[in-house]
Amino acid sequence: MGKLFSQLAGLLFLFFGMWFLLSQIPFTSYYNFKELGKRNEQALADVMLNYIKLNSETIEEPYLDSVFVVFKNRICDSTSFASNDLQLHLLNSSDVNAFALPASNMVILSGLIDFCETPEELAGIMAHELAHIEHNHVTSRMIKELGFTVVMAMISGNSSGGQTVKEAVKMVSSSAFDRSQEVEADETAVKILVNSGIDPQHLANFFERLAEREPSFAKNLTWVSTHPDTKERAASVMEFTKNYSITVREVISEQQWSNFKEMVRKAS
Ligand SMILES: [Zn+2]
Repeated sequence: MGKLFSQLAGLLFLFFGMWFLLSQIPFTSYYNFKELGKRNEQALADVMLNYIKLNSETIEEPYLDSVFVVFKNRICDSTSFASNDLQLHLLNSSDVNAFALPASNMVILSGLIDFCETPEELAGIMAHELAHIEHNHVTSRMIKELGFTVVMAMISGNSSGGQTVKEAVKMVSSSAFDRSQEVEADETAVKILVNSGIDPQHLANFFERLAEREPSFAKNLTWVSTHPDTKERAASVMEFTKNYSITVREVISEQQWSNFKEMVRKAS
């Protein structure tokens, strides 16, 4: 009896001992659920990019790439972000859209370039998407809206028949972030632009023109369906700009810009 009691006591001690030890491990801080880690983020981006490239036409043109390098260098120079780390993907689509993907990937649609009237407008949109990347909005949003397990399943290729990947791509390409994240991205974009010698007025102009054309656009584009609405965004971009003084420098020449737009049009 005494032996049985001491065995039971031993088992109980072991059980509670293990329970106590496990409770001491800070699982949530050990794995920050807002972040996936570099390798997983890259794997997630690859899965999504594969889907995108299978379902839409990419435009690959050395001249366009060389112009994009100028834009990338310009907006990244004023941040802690290395220009080479930013991966741009140009897609053939008449939609006026651009969106960020995990692992510093940015997708730009040819329709957006067509809609931009100045190189500074394009730089403005790129700065906004770069801001989403800098603030890690994309991955944290995917984890929040799809769930950590689903995101990990996508990475490991366990998601059912690519349906989840399809939904994830649709989410990041066609619906806005929450209002506070959009405001944060606009505010950061203004900072990036000012520090890059680009007047944020161009980004505001873009919003104004978009607001005028909105009814004729499909509503399911990130740049159209965003909250606060586009007119209000133009005003708040100008409000943020008031805090800075800008020394403006040209991004690319007028001639280069019209060649660039012409080449995008031809490739589309
Ligand atoms: Zn945004």
